[in-house]
Amino acid sequence: MSPRQWFKGNLHTHSTNSDGDAGPQHVAGWYGQHGYDFLVLSDHNHLTVIEDAAEHAGDWPMLLLGEELTVAATGRPVHLNGIGIGARIEPVTRDTVTEALQANVDLVRAAGGLASINHPNYKWAFDDRAMQAVEGVWAFEVFNGHPSTNNLPAGGRPGTEQIWDRLLSGGKRILGVATDDAHHFKGEFGPERANPGRGWVSVEAEACTPAEIMSSLEAGRFYASTGAVIGALKNEKTEIVLEIEPRSDEACTVTFIGSRGRELWRVDGNTARYRPSKLDTYVRAFVQTSRGTRAWTQPVFVSG
Ligand SMILES: [Zn+2]
Ligand SMILES: [Zn+2]
Repeated sequence: MSPRQWFKGNLHTHSTNSDGDAGPQHVAGWYGQHGYDFLVLSDHNHLTVIEDAAEHAGDWPMLLLGEELTVAATGRPVHLNGIGIGARIEPVTRDTVTEALQANVDLVRAAGGLASINHPNYKWAFDDRAMQAVEGVWAFEVFNGHPSTNNLPAGGRPGTEQIWDRLLSGGKRILGVATDDAHHFKGEFGPERANPGRGWVSVEAEACTPAEIMSSLEAGRFYASTGAVIGALKNEKTEIVLEIEPRSDEACTVTFIGSRGRELWRVDGNTARYRPSKLDTYVRAFVQTSRGTRAWTQPVFVSG
């Protein structure tokens, strides 16, 4: 068995096959030039396949096929990614957000993919109440780099982390991903544009092949990041240990979070350790750096 390594990937991005401003080859090239190991070109209701991708194996990331299933239910946008699917899916709508999510999650699973619910706070479409009853969801976006996705809590509305903790506290086993949802690869980059490079996952796997990456994603052997780098991670029921690799002199704080979003333990420094107790139902770690970058480990389910 080869030792596991970290592989960096973006699970959500667009090209001219939907509403992105650059062709799929340009998009794959951007991610290749910026150190990504794998990429999902997730165009709206379109399966982007680059026929000659094998010829670019050295300069492009490994491409996992995916699609952003995009519908509206009761006038609200319902978007979810099917990751690792083998063929295009025709998404369906239903009379409620919950039913629309469920129907499309079922289609993704039937196509052999992982279903990830995208940007719940985009246009304030829905929150945990619509997601709690949906079965078979693999993950949701705890961070989306598009400027209109309202990741943080404000105005009395829950941020994505609050949504996550409510789902987890309600007994739902759902993972968290960070993504770019990039649309803009051309022209000047800025905070009002949906540029690439803002959110990604780092996956621990034995090799960067579709099968290995899919297997690690499904098992939760990854963390989500907007820049913070975790060099070593033990994420088990008995013990959670993070070793952060700071960039230059950046300072780090790690917070361990449990049921109902409660702070269980906080560590200032680059190494943090927590031993879950029998009273913890789940524990997840959140990293904040002085640079403003963040990282989220996957929840460890302690009971059951
Ligand atoms: Zn979307
Ligand atoms: Zn998108």
